Amino acid sequence: MTLPSKPYVIIGAGPAGLMAAERLAASGHQVDVYDRMPNPGRKFLLAGRGGLNLTHTDGPTDFLAQYREARDWLKPIIEAFSPDELREWCASLGEDSFAGSSGRVFPKSFKASPLLRAWLRRLDSLGVTFHGRHKWTGWDDTGALVFETADAKSVTVQAKATLLALGGASWPKLGADGGWVSLLDAKGVAVSPLTAANAGVKIAWSDLMKERFPGAALKRVVALCRGEQAKGEAIVTKDGLEGGVIYELGPAIRHSLEVDGEAIVHLDLRRDLPLHILTERLVKPRGKQSVSTWLHKAAGLSPAAIALFREEAATGVKAPFNDPVALAQLLKALPIRIEALAGLERSISTAGGVRLSALTDELMLKGLPGVFVAGEMIDWEAPTGGYLLQACFSTAVCAAEGMAIWEDGITPPMA
Ligand SMILES: Cc1cc2nc3c(=O)[nH]c(=O)nc-3n(C[C@H](O)[C@H](O)[C@H](O)COP(=O)(O)OP(=O)(O)OC[C@H]3O[C@@H](n4cnc5c(N)ncnc54)[C@H](O)[C@@H]3O)c2cc1C
Repeated sequence: MTLPSKPYVIIGAGPAGLMAAERLAASGHQVDVYDRMPNPGRKFLLAGRGGLNLTHTDGPTDFLAQYREARDWLKPIIEAFSPDELREWCASLGEDSFAGSSGRVFPKSFKASPLLRAWLRRLDSLGVTFHGRHKWTGWDDTGALVFETADAKSVTVQAKATLLALGGASWPKLGADGGWVSLLDAKGVAVSPLTAANAGVKIAWSDLMKERFPGAALKRVVALCRGEQAKGEAIVTKDGLEGGVIYELGPAIRHSLEVDGEAIVHLDLRRDLPLHILTERLVKPRGKQSVSTWLHKAAGLSPAAIALFREEAATGVKAPFNDPVALAQLLKALPIRIEALAGLERSISTAGGVRLSALTDELMLKGLPGVFVAGEMIDWEAPTGGYLLQACFSTAVCAAEGMAIWEDGITPPMA
């Protein structure tokens, strides 16, 4: 009598887990996917609300530069499943993609739901079994995976090889809550602390700013922090600011807060107007116009941008409304004091995670043979722009290939 073969087990049905499931199942392997949530892809669907920025058209050097310290580590992984291959995969599911003027790539439907539906149909036809409401809680003494079901039952599963694709800890109500950190820590796996990435920042706004301007966009600004620069948009929230330029400067802001105890971001509110032209416009007499009307007409500032000048607690500056030269200078570099990064609950992604040094080239945990990791739970970070999903998909493909060549007790060849 032959014993039934053990399945490949994937824990975490986000984009990383599902991509690895597809790869393994397409090669004829039996794959079981477990997730603590009832349905797969909850965060993927949320990402779709913003259009689902899948990847970016940057050339390879610029693309990889977005991953900062993890750039060299990710290079072979992203080369092996590139942005073009990701777009082809998307098209193979009936969703052509397009690149916006910024180079960001989106599915034509601008949503995640049609793509996810087609993807789940494909996984089903490949024989992948999904087990929802199964929370992974670790291993038992025999090395079997232990899950807790919705009715608090304990289920054990023996795996041929396991992929942990458990995500980071942002938006924990969607499933990824970072609970895996203590489980891996107990096994001696090196993990960098999970912190918010692509998160808003907290600023001590006045009541006026809190009440009147949440949602207002500061468009076409340049933001600077610790010598790093970001161009784009910032959005006022009731606690501070969020949006592209803030996310991009996130690592610099985090570093400043850790090292200096505070972070200052300088905003150029009229990046398209050189200082001397702005000064010329502001030296013209204001006449009987209110300061707001004058600033709106002469400098083209929005009401929210004008309100920023009155935020003395946040800027540390009393706006020199009667000194056009100083005012123009301030318009080009308005300091904003950041009190803290917003929490993980609403951040787009997570920095920190399983340290790169804990992994083989195939993304197997060196200390836990047969256990692989992929996606956001690995210690890389990137700004928004499609770099997050691309790295999740590429690491999943890499891990799936490592799993496919893994045999009990035989470590895949390491470089
Ligand atoms: C608002 C928002 C917008 C975004 N927009 C974009 C975008 O446009 N482009 C982009 O590139 N990225 C975007 N992202 C980021 C992107 O969604 C994530 O990087 C990506 O989903 C991470 O994929 P993952 O598979 O690693 O983890 P996740 O998608 O987080 O999936 C992890 C899965 O593991 C499960 N899990 C966790 N712990 C357990 C456990 N103990 N037992 C069982 N299951 C468990 C979770 O339930 C979850 O389903 C966005 C994120 C947010 C929050």
